[in-house]
Amino acid sequence: MKTDRLRRFTLEHQGIRGSLVRIPETWRCIQERGVYAPAVGRILGHAVVAAALIGKNLKFDGRLTLQLQGSGPLHLLVVQCTHDLGIRGLARCRETQMVEFGGRVQPGRMTVTVESGAKQERYQSIIPVEQGSLAECLGAYYQDSVQIPTAFWLDVDDQNASGLMLQRLPGNPAGSSGDWDLVIEQASKTLPASLAGQTDEAVLTRVFDGRLLRVFKPQDVAFQCSCSDDGMRQMLRLLGVDELHDIIAEQGRIEVRCEFCNHGYTIAENEIPGLVHGVPDSGATTLH
Ligand SMILES: [Zn+2]
Repeated sequence: MKTDRLRRFTLEHQGIRGSLVRIPETWRCIQERGVYAPAVGRILGHAVVAAALIGKNLKFDGRLTLQLQGSGPLHLLVVQCTHDLGIRGLARCRETQMVEFGGRVQPGRMTVTVESGAKQERYQSIIPVEQGSLAECLGAYYQDSVQIPTAFWLDVDDQNASGLMLQRLPGNPAGSSGDWDLVIEQASKTLPASLAGQTDEAVLTRVFDGRLLRVFKPQDVAFQCSCSDDGMRQMLRLLGVDELHDIIAEQGRIEVRCEFCNHGYTIAENEIPGLVHGVPDSGATTLH
C-alpha cells in the first residue's frame, strides 16, 4: 500500500487553501542513501517535506529546487521536487556536531529555483536565512517574494516526515485577514504534533475543527532520481577525451556515482570514442 501522499484542501469560507503531506517512505529512501547525523537529518527532512508542499504549486511541468548554502558546518543542502511529486535530496556537512538551522551556524542563504521541463524558463529567488527554522524562512519567502501570506508546519523524525501548508488565496472575496490570523493561531495550537499517526481526514478535522473543508483526492509522492546514463555521459563529455583517457590510465575505468541515489555508472576505455562523439559503441547503452 502506498503510504506517501499529498492532500490538498480548501477552507471554503475563509479563502484559504492548503496541503497536507505525509511521506515516510520517501524520507526513508533519502535517509538510506546518505549518512546523516540527527541534527542534519532533521533539517534535510524538513526541506524534503517543504519541497513537496511547494512543488505541488508548480504551474507547469518542471522541477523545483530548494537549496541551502552557508559557510557553517552544513554547507550545502539540495532537495528537488518534480511537478508530479518525485523527490530527491542530499545534505553535505563539514562537521555535524554544531549543525542547527538558526543561530550563528545557520546556513547563509536559501535559493528557490523553478525550471520548466524543457528548462526554457527558469526563475530563481535568493533569500537570506534570518529565521530560526526552515518553516519560518519559507513563510518569509512567500511574504516577501511571492507576496502571498503562507504558513508552514514541518514535522520530521527518523520514521516520519509530514507537514502542512496554508496559503491565503489572493484576490478571493471570501475571508478576511482576521480569518487568516484566527486560522493560523488555531492551527499553531495543535501543529505539528497532530500530524502523526492518523488519517488525513482526522488530522484536518482536528486542526480546523468546525470549519467547512473541501478535501481533494490524494496524490502520490515518491522518491525519484532524475539521473540517467545519458545525463552522466553528457557530463563526462565536457571533460574531453584527454582527461577521460587520463582517468582510465589511473583507475582502469571511469566510475561515476550519483550523489542523490548512489547509482553507479561505469565507462570502459573502448566506450570513450563513442562518448566523446555522441554515438554509442556497439554494446554501449543507447543514447537518447
Ligand atoms: Zn541518481
